[in-house]
Amino acid sequence: MRGWRIGKIAGIIIEINYTWLIIFGLFFVSLSTEWFPEAHPELPSIYHWIAGLGATVLLFVSVLLHELAHCLVGQRSGIEVSRITLFVFGGIAQMKSEPTEPLAELKMAAAGPVTSLLLAMLFGFLWGVFGALSGWDLAAESMKYLAFANGMLAAFNLVPAFPLDGGRVLRSIIWHLTGNLRRSTQIATTLGQFFGFVLMGAGFWQLLTGALVPGIWFLALGWLLASAAQGSYQRMEMEHVLGDVPVWSLMSAPVVTLPAAMTIQQAVDQYFMRLRHGAFPVVDAQDNLVGMLSLSQVKQQDQQQWLALQVRQLMEPLDTDQMTIRPDTEAVQAMMKMAQSDRGRLLVTDAAGELVGIISKTDILNLIRIKAGLRV
Ligand SMILES: [Zn+2]
Repeated sequence: MRGWRIGKIAGIIIEINYTWLIIFGLFFVSLSTEWFPEAHPELPSIYHWIAGLGATVLLFVSVLLHELAHCLVGQRSGIEVSRITLFVFGGIAQMKSEPTEPLAELKMAAAGPVTSLLLAMLFGFLWGVFGALSGWDLAAESMKYLAFANGMLAAFNLVPAFPLDGGRVLRSIIWHLTGNLRRSTQIATTLGQFFGFVLMGAGFWQLLTGALVPGIWFLALGWLLASAAQGSYQRMEMEHVLGDVPVWSLMSAPVVTLPAAMTIQQAVDQYFMRLRHGAFPVVDAQDNLVGMLSLSQVKQQDQQQWLALQVRQLMEPLDTDQMTIRPDTEAVQAMMKMAQSDRGRLLVTDAAGELVGIISKTDILNLIRIKAGLRV
């Protein structure tokens, strides 16, 4: 999930996904037209809107602080976090690696809810302060709302359902007690899926009773949790089965390359039809790697264009970061990279950028299938 970059804190990119606008708008409007007018109907509505905007902004600053707490504590244990994205269900921190020992995971997971609890206490205190002053009724009401919202945020995240913070805390405790990461992940993610289904059930019930917006929201949140829990479990299993198999042992090599100056028609006749690969790396006249052309890209083009178009015009230009991987990287990493960028294959290049092979999702899945079948 990506979004608009709004800034960078401690080396972590802060982004806003477009779905976040929905939830921001929803909170802003419901606070300004329901919550504040009901609490203080005697005040003019412009005050309700100002308080609504202030409270909504502070709410999302609170969410951001919750995520930042995870990241900063994680960084101290050497866990790299590349970005925080705010989206419709709050915030999500993208870690480059998972914690390698239980205590690091425990600290990192607990940091978020602890921060939310501290914020709840801070806003609760300010609620008392503004409440004691005269003429600060809406400020007091905003602080009360923020105290509750942060308390709820902490409580929800502490539910022991992976990938929620509480699920991570639970996993780290079982992991610490048993020394078995695989077993603890299995327990925490099973609870995660169960809780996801509970939320979906609640959403379905709300739809039946006519509460459309909360119904859809709970259904979507439940589905997201259940599938994230399942995904984490599958990744764990995959890592277990694959072990530390390197990319080079699974890649196809040597690789047949496609000249960039060739026409699409020639490429189809001489390469795709004859060798039956789904994609070919593309090289220029100096034999430098410049991109990749896949059969699906060719198919999207009108066949009459094949004679006129060159490979270089249709190929996906080389993006070293997204499209290549080093031969000594673990195959699990290759799999994750493909999943993240939604690709079926990666080009394997050495330190000098020289093409040494190509690895596809099918290569890795075949090994998983064989290993899982043999139970080795
Ligand atoms: Zn959290």
